[in-house]
Amino acid sequence: MSEIRDTVILGSGCAGLTAAIYTARANLKPLVLEGHEPGGQLSITTLVENFPGWPDGIQGPELIENMKKQAVRFGAEFKMNHLVSVDLSVHPFRLKTGQGEISTRTLIIASGASARWLGLPSEQALIGHGVSSCATCDGFFFNGHDIAVVGGGDTAMEEALFLTRFATKVYLLHRRESFRASKVMMERVIAHPKIEIMTNTVVEEVLGVEEKSVRGLNIRNVKTGDKSVLPVTGFFLGIGHEPNAKMFHGQIDLDEDGYIRTNDNVLTRVPGVFACGDVQDRRYRQAITAAGTGCMAALEAEKYLEEHGH
Ligand code: NDP
Repeated sequence: MSEIRDTVILGSGCAGLTAAIYTARANLKPLVLEGHEPGGQLSITTLVENFPGWPDGIQGPELIENMKKQAVRFGAEFKMNHLVSVDLSVHPFRLKTGQGEISTRTLIIASGASARWLGLPSEQALIGHGVSSCATCDGFFFNGHDIAVVGGGDTAMEEALFLTRFATKVYLLHRRESFRASKVMMERVIAHPKIEIMTNTVVEEVLGVEEKSVRGLNIRNVKTGDKSVLPVTGFFLGIGHEPNAKMFHGQIDLDEDGYIRTNDNVLTRVPGVFACGDVQDRRYRQAITAAGTGCMAALEAEKYLEEHGH
């Protein structure tokens, strides 16, 4: 017999931890399955300066650790279990993990989205040291720098435009000739005096691993084969995000890019299953908005349990 929990939370980023704090304080003894990237995207950022309540900023990992401590203080339980499959067609819902089965009356999905990276070892080594996938989070640190953004969709355009507030120059690198970005964003980018567009350009290496600070990019023009060094000190990825929701395919509604569709902010089409944070939010993707929807999901779970006599 597997144990039956009132609430299981999938994911331990901002959304999941906020849901954990609220459900724990409601005495639901939530179980948080921490997932592949414990702490979520904040755990790989450096200084967070836009989370209200920290006038001098706070390191991303520390913010996450504080939230976790707060949830534990009220009785949330954390497990590193790896989730193998879920069955939402039965109630209580059934979760199969590497360490056994768990049944739960409510499920809060806060499994987040992972930024896509190019996958270069030098890029990975310099995340947080000049390489970032979030202009809103890290742009401020690049005041007076020359920066490159890679990507050809709206995220890249938005990042490039945002970064012009700080950078002296923004190079927008795209691997093809034509762009996916919407016309209006594209026009703004083309018209911006600080942005230089480089098409048919791929990044082969980020320079500065030894120095632990970006000092340039090895780039190649895929049409001409020409190789050169782009002397930038910041490198932003704008090549999209992958919502971590594949496991729910066919059980709840996902949109065309795999994000969980929700009504009234956090309700999925299965009563008792709620989604919050970046796995259902392709628009704002901020720590504070993830925390906000995590709170909503917790309140909805509490309401659901109460209405069903638990
Ligand atoms: P997209 O999938 O639209 O674009 C990703 C871009 O990254 C593409 O140009 C793609 O190139 C490029 N890319 C992907 N992988 C690589 C790689 N390995 N190397 C180099 N380039 C790569 O993702 P977005 O995040 O830009 O947008 C997702 C959705 O969110 C869209 O619907 C968009 O409109 C929306 N959005 C809207 C915003 C707004 O309205 N303000 C802001 C941000 C996003 P290629 O074209 O060659 O495939």
